[in-house]
Amino acid sequence: MKIYCIQVGDVQIKSRHKQARFESRIARMSDVLIDPNWTPRLPIGCWAIDHPEGLIVVDTGESSHANDPGYQPWWHPFMQRCERRWVGRDEEVGPRLRALGFDPLDVRWVVMTHMHGDHAGGIGHFPNSEILLSKQEADDAWARTGPLLGYLNMHYPNWLKPTIVSFSDGRWESFERSTALTKDGRVRIVPTPGHTLGHLAVVVEKDNNCVLIAGDAAYDEQHLLRGAVDGVAQSAPLHRDSTRRLRELCNRRPTITQFAHDPNSAKRLASATPTKAD
Ligand SMILES: [Zn+2]
Repeated sequence: MKIYCIQVGDVQIKSRHKQARFESRIARMSDVLIDPNWTPRLPIGCWAIDHPEGLIVVDTGESSHANDPGYQPWWHPFMQRCERRWVGRDEEVGPRLRALGFDPLDVRWVVMTHMHGDHAGGIGHFPNSEILLSKQEADDAWARTGPLLGYLNMHYPNWLKPTIVSFSDGRWESFERSTALTKDGRVRIVPTPGHTLGHLAVVVEKDNNCVLIAGDAAYDEQHLLRGAVDGVAQSAPLHRDSTRRLRELCNRRPTITQFAHDPNSAKRLASATPTKAD
């Protein structure tokens, strides 16, 4: 079962978006809006899991149209002024998968950690796939207030009818609830709310280690270890509870951690280097 870390262009965010200074969301968001400092360019990551029961994609990256006039809501100061994006047409997840020898139309499942624009922008490449996300994430993303919270639901394809992940397969390691995606139980979905209230993560149990695909549950390995909360997270307490559970998983099992905007995700995956959380 091979796992691929796929880069769909780059993003730049404000430094206080990556690392917040305050607890309340309103204070964190205001702080990002007035922050003059940018992070370096960070990758936009997504993943493919070549599983015997079918090809699985986790997150779909950003669209190459993200910088087109009108793509980001004109009235949204955050998307207009606090994020920069670089995604070429052939960097989208569809062409990236084709370059790896896969046909996006053959993907069986697309699991969405959450529906922010830089994770859902490539969803149009997967009209044949079952698209999975949490109930909370679906409610928030399709709400009328969705765009305000970073959900660009005006760009969702008409055919998009997600399957809700129920987390009804019981406890798994440090998580009270989980869903086994594959019949062999090796690909599991766990709730990791905080960055968004419906955020989830995917854990792949390999023979010698686990690969944890954590989306934006933390922005990178150091942030996971420190339990650092990001500037746009919907809930700081839930974010900390989720990173605590993820660190606990790293303590129990050798776990290779993957984050969407961690420049070292691909390296850790290639070298099978687990994250040491103690
Ligand atoms: Zn996000």
